[in-house]
Amino acid sequence: MSMHHEIGLTCPQCGKAGIFTVWDSVNTKLDPDAAAAVKSQELFRYHCPHCGTAVTVNYGFLYHDMGRHFMIYYAPGDDDVANANKDMKDNEGKFQSMIESAAYVYRLVRTKEDLLEKITIFEAGLDDRLMELTKAAALAQVGEKEKDFTVTESHFVTADDGSLRLSLVDEKRGQQAYVDFTNGLAQLYGQFQQHFADDLPAEDAVLARIDADWTQRFLNKYLYN
Ligand SMILES: [Zn+2]
Repeated sequence: MSMHHEIGLTCPQCGKAGIFTVWDSVNTKLDPDAAAAVKSQELFRYHCPHCGTAVTVNYGFLYHDMGRHFMIYYAPGDDDVANANKDMKDNEGKFQSMIESAAYVYRLVRTKEDLLEKITIFEAGLDDRLMELTKAAALAQVGEKEKDFTVTESHFVTADDGSLRLSLVDEKRGQQAYVDFTNGLAQLYGQFQQHFADDLPAEDAVLARIDADWTQRFLNKYLYN
């Protein structure tokens, strides 16, 4: 189910009032336009009808892809995290049965970049846990080879030509680099899949945070022991 409500906003530029639509949940099947607006981040943009100024409005919501069977809570604020976890708890039985009947995956992310990365990975039919392991290995290689490039941001993204790649950013030096997935990192991914498929925990009806911290814990447990 898609749900949204409207809030009143005051334009910081001209000071006039306007209406902005806040989505509580975006269902990709029922609201493909809203799903597209998540990807373009237009969902977070208020355009003042009086002066045309664009204002970014950040807020948490649920992104639900019924076709690919995943739910991602985008929770930028601590209260968003609490609400998302409560929602999962309140509907635990339902979410558990969705795992059993349709192999559903539940995730929680705190930034828009992480949200878009999860969508990119799941739409490509890949496992985000293996992707995080792949990313960690790629970052270790870059760290060894490139002494003049310090990665401060790394996300899997969809390129303009539709291909999947790992975007590496050195914010301090203002540089960006890419590593192609299909013709590069897919091999690493395949190796992790082969080695760790049996070690990956079963999906649970709780909001998992699959990120760099998760990756470190997983590697400490299964690789460095
Ligand atoms: Zn205005």
